[in-house]
Amino acid sequence: MLAANALADRLGVTTPVLLVIEERVRANIARMAAKAAAAGVRLRPHAKTHQSLTVARWCREAGVDSLTVSSLGMAAAFAADGWNDITVAVPFSPREAGAVRELAGRMRLGLLADHPAVAAAAADCGARVWLKIDVGYGRAGVRWDDAPALTALALAVPSPGPAGILTHAGQSYAARGRAEVLAVHAAQSARMAAAHDTVAAALGRPVFVSIGDTPTCRTADAFPGIDELRPGNFVYYDRMQFAAGICGESELAAFVLCPVVGVHDGGRRLVLHAGAVHLSKERDGAGYGCLVEWDDPAPGRLRPDLPLVSLSQELAVVADGDGGTCLRPGDAVLVAPVHSCLAADLLPGGVTSTGRRLASAGLR
Ligand code: PLP
Repeated sequence: MLAANALADRLGVTTPVLLVIEERVRANIARMAAKAAAAGVRLRPHAKTHQSLTVARWCREAGVDSLTVSSLGMAAAFAADGWNDITVAVPFSPREAGAVRELAGRMRLGLLADHPAVAAAAADCGARVWLKIDVGYGRAGVRWDDAPALTALALAVPSPGPAGILTHAGQSYAARGRAEVLAVHAAQSARMAAAHDTVAAALGRPVFVSIGDTPTCRTADAFPGIDELRPGNFVYYDRMQFAAGICGESELAAFVLCPVVGVHDGGRRLVLHAGAVHLSKERDGAGYGCLVEWDDPAPGRLRPDLPLVSLSQELAVVADGDGGTCLRPGDAVLVAPVHSCLAADLLPGGVTSTGRRLASAGLR
């Protein structure tokens, strides 16, 4: 049913919160950990999705012993919670050299570089240097087929040399369906193999190969030539992944639980207290998310027929074509966010459906 009033009452929810389904998160983590183990590769999940000490501990309980993060602040927060092998997977900014020196002195800290001077500066701070490769996304990284630039980058890292090569095939988000995702995976594998051979030739030794995006890591079963997977979104998934056929409805594990604050036009226009500051302005073809039924004790069906069609800073408008929801102001509803990483960032912490508060790493 649509109203999740008993749940909101039980959790004491009066304003928008991130609702996390612990059972589903643990199942998502276990599935990815089993896949990595079967393929003989390390799983270094990206914690930027949840930014939660609690969810990272669930990863640890599934056998994970290393993390990826997207800031030094996050690295410090997770290090304080006992993680001592962390890669900061955004290009290193030499402006952060001081903080890097401090952290690298007490843990295995990996940094990314795609410029020889940056690679040398990162190594000088005591970090392990990952060479960032662009396998077609066109964001950061040296192109896989630019052998002169890759060679210069590899040779810029003083002894013992780079920790490995690393990519994020973000183009997998444009793929639709299994076959298209597998085609992206095949291309990234071939391109990383080519980059590997160039770097290995320059160094006179093989290097570690790291990939990481949820669509390819979730869809592929074989990872030849790959040593490490760094997916992040897979702990929660979201409407974007579901719409692209990456995950099933029962794997969706993070929602926004929020109040209905208005019912208009005979129930055809519902207003929720959930806006851009809670969900982000990420949208897909249908809107900024959609309502989800709550079948205690678990989420039920997604309702793409009840999309969030407009979003202001604090509020969302849900279009209900026939006004049949019978919701009233004061009811609580669940929203499936388009992109869970952004909703989790905007609603730090969160709560499980059994009332457990998630400890936030608290830093971007
Ligand atoms: N590694 C890097 C460098 C990334 O930028 C990201 C996401 O942006 C990931 C890993 C995780 O990918 P996903 O969000 O698809 O799980």
